[in-house]
Amino acid sequence: MIEFDGISFNELISRRIMGELAGHDPSYAELAQDQVPNRVTRYSFMAAIARINGLPFFPKVAEFCDGSLHAACDSTVMTRGFFAPLCLAGTDKLIIAIANPWSPLAEEYLAPRFPDLEIVKIVTLASEISRAIESVATNNGPSRSELEAIDVEDMDDGIHDFDVTTDYTEPMAQLIATIMADAVRTRASDIHFKVEKETFYYAFRVDGDIGDKVEIPMKLKDRLDAFLLNLMKLPTEIRNTAPGISGRFTISYFHRPIDIRYERHRTYRGYHVTMRLLDKSNINVTLGKGTLAFDDDTMFALNKVMKIPAGIIVMSGPTGSGKSTTLNAILRELNRPEVNILTLENPVEDEVPGITHCDLKSAKEFKPMIASFMRSDPDIILMGEVRDLESAELAIEAAVTGHKVLTTIHTPRASQIIERFEQLGIERWKIAQTLKAACAQRLVKLLCPYCKEPCGGITELDRKTFSLDESWANIPLFVAKAGGCGECRNSGYSGRTAILEIIPITPKVSDMLSKGEMTPYELEVKVAEEGVLPNLRRSGLRLLREGKTDLAAVSKVIDMTYTDD
Ligand SMILES: [Zn+2]
Repeated sequence: MIEFDGISFNELISRRIMGELAGHDPSYAELAQDQVPNRVTRYSFMAAIARINGLPFFPKVAEFCDGSLHAACDSTVMTRGFFAPLCLAGTDKLIIAIANPWSPLAEEYLAPRFPDLEIVKIVTLASEISRAIESVATNNGPSRSELEAIDVEDMDDGIHDFDVTTDYTEPMAQLIATIMADAVRTRASDIHFKVEKETFYYAFRVDGDIGDKVEIPMKLKDRLDAFLLNLMKLPTEIRNTAPGISGRFTISYFHRPIDIRYERHRTYRGYHVTMRLLDKSNINVTLGKGTLAFDDDTMFALNKVMKIPAGIIVMSGPTGSGKSTTLNAILRELNRPEVNILTLENPVEDEVPGITHCDLKSAKEFKPMIASFMRSDPDIILMGEVRDLESAELAIEAAVTGHKVLTTIHTPRASQIIERFEQLGIERWKIAQTLKAACAQRLVKLLCPYCKEPCGGITELDRKTFSLDESWANIPLFVAKAGGCGECRNSGYSGRTAILEIIPITPKVSDMLSKGEMTPYELEVKVAEEGVLPNLRRSGLRLLREGKTDLAAVSKVIDMTYTDD
């Protein structure tokens, strides 16, 4: 089953699409269905769909959208059904844009609303349909007056398995469904709801950045809060007493379940709710593809690390740098019938057949879980995170007894992993002898290919600030277009790619570190000087030179104000 741009295609149609793609471009013949979203451009994909159905394909249509045709239509129904009326052709034809020609919804919905017109279909991108609807829409979701009319005393909604792609008569349910469906469609990682002194708003984090704030009437803050607590079957009273509330629930997006991790903390003016979308369609990535399309040098170094038989492999980086995504991708590669893989995560993000996933319900469970793990004959253990002495000790114990341990830790640089273990109370020789690879990862935003703008080179000030040599003055590069375009939702960027730094701890290095003959920082400098192993700064600059990103995006995630080489 192919899922593309939020639309699911059944098995039969998916096979026809694969056939059409391969017929048009032989390089697509090798693709598996789940690789399509990462490997095929929207243009090629939608053009293939149009060809199969004998319909014309237009990549840009929003500009032709006649707003008066939308007066009789519900923008939510159209956005969710991926269709929109565009304009009249002559006096008797209505041109409509669709993204899924196999869905009868567009005609079923529009025919009775335009009884005197013959419907003519054209295929376009799903994003273009949203853009057309947005460009003429007077509101998004329930109207302001509908929101104002919500009875703030009515607290029991009784919805526990929340389908965000059906229609609700209750405006609060409709509002939250609309917001959440929109978040999934735009591939947001988080939704924030925040009460400030004079405003109440929500915002999405997409590709690492928090986007525009959308205001909600202030009087709805308690009602919205209660609705979300109800989804998790939590009593609404606890919001007045608990400083922090954590929870989880599941939403259904076109019958696809998406786990939501909910975090609420009380603030001076009310609350701040963050909902993380654990959208499995986003994290089901494979090494070398999609977000994890590393260059050859990085793949080579990573493959070598994966072959290490026993010891600890640590992935470091700040929150949201995709550490666990990469570890999960590594686990997929290591997954063989003859290997026993156990994971201990909070929460389980990506279930892989053949791997035993365990979810940690509280910190107290950690030690007994690991102890039980060790008795169940594992070869590889994935520990979500090393955060305290107990988890650090258990990782080392597992490694000493011959297991391969994959884990993450919060440090900016790979070389700081050893120091972090020391801060937690582990002696240096112990970590030096069990750590086999210290890695760091970042996600770098990629320029939107449809609107990126060429620029002549890097200014003297930026060259000085970011330690870039003279050669950068006249290199043809690209920068994000201010205001972007419809393809990138006006951000100038589209998607992210991971870059990796890998420092292997060889027996010789391990010996020198144990004896104190070399510090972790000296090791990092030495590795950078040798210039063989993948390094964050070099990989970031390569993306820049290739025109895939810009200096602002690179310097945002990598500290470039120093240089080791
Ligand atoms: Zn763009």
